[in-house]
Amino acid sequence: MGKIFDVAATAAQRFAEINTPHPPAETKILMRRAVVLGGSMAGLMAARVLADHADEVVIVERDDTDVNAGPRPGVPQGSQVHALLPAGQVQLDRWWPDFTERAIAAGAPDEGRTDAKIFINDELRVTTEPPPEKPILITTRPFLEAQVRRRVLESPKVRMVYGRADGLLFAPGEGGGVVGARYVPAATGTPATGADDGGRQGAAGTDAANADGGQDAAVELAADLVVDAMGRASSLNDWLEAHGWPRAPMQRMPIKLNYASALFERDPAVSDTWIAISQTTPAKDRVARIGGINSVEGDRWIMLVAGYDADRPSRDVEEFAKRCRQYFPTMFGDIAERGKMIGNVITYHQADSRRRDFDQVDRLPTGIIAAGDAVASFNPVYGQGMTSATLHASCLSEWLRTGPDLATEPARGYFERVRVVVDAAWQVSTFADLGLPHITSGQPRGYKVIKWASEVILKASMTDSVTSQKLNRVTTMLDHPNALASPGLLLRALRLKWFGGARA
Ligand SMILES: Cc1cc2nc3c(=O)[nH]c(=O)nc-3n(C[C@H](O)[C@H](O)[C@H](O)COP(=O)(O)OP(=O)(O)OC[C@H]3O[C@@H](n4cnc5c(N)ncnc54)[C@H](O)[C@@H]3O)c2cc1C
Repeated sequence: MGKIFDVAATAAQRFAEINTPHPPAETKILMRRAVVLGGSMAGLMAARVLADHADEVVIVERDDTDVNAGPRPGVPQGSQVHALLPAGQVQLDRWWPDFTERAIAAGAPDEGRTDAKIFINDELRVTTEPPPEKPILITTRPFLEAQVRRRVLESPKVRMVYGRADGLLFAPGEGGGVVGARYVPAATGTPATGADDGGRQGAAGTDAANADGGQDAAVELAADLVVDAMGRASSLNDWLEAHGWPRAPMQRMPIKLNYASALFERDPAVSDTWIAISQTTPAKDRVARIGGINSVEGDRWIMLVAGYDADRPSRDVEEFAKRCRQYFPTMFGDIAERGKMIGNVITYHQADSRRRDFDQVDRLPTGIIAAGDAVASFNPVYGQGMTSATLHASCLSEWLRTGPDLATEPARGYFERVRVVVDAAWQVSTFADLGLPHITSGQPRGYKVIKWASEVILKASMTDSVTSQKLNRVTTMLDHPNALASPGLLLRALRLKWFGGARA
């Protein structure tokens, strides 16, 4: 039986284990076939891990993704600024040790620059980070996903089929676990690998097409483990309920976030900006807003402006430029007014942050897990989503390396690990969002004290390198938020507040 968890370990210790940069030393084949529903960041990362433990991994993806894909319908947020946090980059380099180098060779920018400018309430934060071991990967979302897809599909064990997953297969009888999944093949599909059949036939004898054999006939894929990676609108809860299993409880926080992003040709005559982030926190005389500029592949900038609730950037180019000039640091206005825009301003609204706590259900079928946004999706301004997906894959690897008997054991050991990652990300993002005036969700116990301490630490981080680095490691998901709960750090921040001065 697979070990569930070291119950004595603290959340921070567990988080550190999940965050390991080291590839697993030893892996064992535990299953004949794994099926992954959804071929985006979470599904691809899960497939990479499953290739160490299965004879065959089949990814079912609704969109016709080819390896050079741009934004696509199944990932509508793909046109918006996407930052990969350092912890996510560590995981990508963990599973493919030359991931960063190959992404750069494929076009990700690498100019030896690390000069990210971070403005909090219009004040520039001291830059204190030691130079990273590898160049920071800054790309558009479709580019990064295409790199991951390319790497995953290099494994001869992994193939992608195109179609819409529309249900799970359960073993007969009451309490029968998940034994596969069903999908309706796409009418057309670009095979992602030369050998692929585009999803129209099963590769193994246990696949079965439904009787009429027509284009819309569902294909049944037998599997020892099915991964739901269908994103935040996943139907897994409905499918489980329809077969008599409890739904995972869902928590939501209504963030009402409004994004607008646009691409520009990079031009040194307009600005020398490499990376810039601007955040204003809500206060009596201040509206909460986020802006970001990333230098991405193709010698372009991608620029974002975001607001909450009724503060809604539109698709209008002039309004975008006005907003950049009025509410954000100079480089935003410079690029928006004088830079050459490529394409249009693209907007996106996200109603809520949400999480489904599968570890909380009292009955869980065998043979099924969920990963990525299908488990939890956060306010994107904190950039946690893709990194969380890589950490869920790490949880999957840890759990599978305990050697669970997949036919008899539900994936509790997996979901308990995933909870550690979700709690850490949720704690950072929803705690900050509780300060937004339109959020009326109840405040947790101790909120006022933690809010006061967080503000003291944030203020100190503007000038003090030690505080800044500790805070950064948490916001970039390298460390658990409990790392900020040390009395020593608070005292240091308080000394700065009372006696002033910057520290190296
Ligand atoms: C505006 C915005 C900005 C963001 N910015 C960042 C950022 O800066 N950094 C960051 O890390 N994260 C960011 N995120 C979050 C990030 O986009 C997600 O966390 C990440 O994409 C989650 O990956 P996923 O694979 O779980 O789900 P998704 O990327 O949503 O993919 C789900 C996949 O499942 C497929 N699918 C769905 N249903 C079916 C079906 N029935 N059958 C077959 N396939 C199906 C879809 O086609 C898609 O490929 C942002 C999100 C938003 C909304």
